[in-house]
Amino acid sequence: MAHCERGDEYIVGQSAHTYRYEGGGAAVLGSIQPQPIENAADGSLPLEKISAAIKADDFHFARSKLLALENTIGGKVLPADYVLKATELARERGLATHLDGARLFNAAVATDTSLKQLCLPFDSVSLCFSKAWAHPSARHWWALKH
Ligand SMILES: *Cc1c(COP(=O)(O)O)cnc(C)c1O
Repeated sequence: MAHCERGDEYIVGQSAHTYRYEGGGAAVLGSIQPQPIENAADGSLPLEKISAAIKADDFHFARSKLLALENTIGGKVLPADYVLKATELARERGLATHLDGARLFNAAVATDTSLKQLCLPFDSVSLCFSKAWAHPSARHWWALKH
């Protein structure tokens, strides 16, 4: 809702938590239409599918405003080079970018990458305090690293 108005839409994976598991929250709370795309086996949204899903500027259509990715997704870390390409594509096409990073600590630990690095390509990020963030081993890792 920080990125979209009523009648805007966000591009999101079919298996993304925000689309699949939140009771239609974006639509219910924000009047934001999801434009789901089938996730590839590695959890990514293929760039050509993102590109094809962005709607033309025409008042018949919802306004494509946001690309939402999730990392990790389905237990998989999104490849870093993919994240850069997808967010760059979104920016080129005038879309904002959001990362559902509820499980981003898992990605940070799995790839030995800082949270900052994982968050940098995005306009906004959400983290979840009830998931890996709260796990003692994640806190231990965080304390060692930073
Ligand atoms: C748990 C989870 C959420 C929701 O987080 P809450 O803090 O429980 O609302 C969103 N996205 C992903 C990927 C999650 O695992």
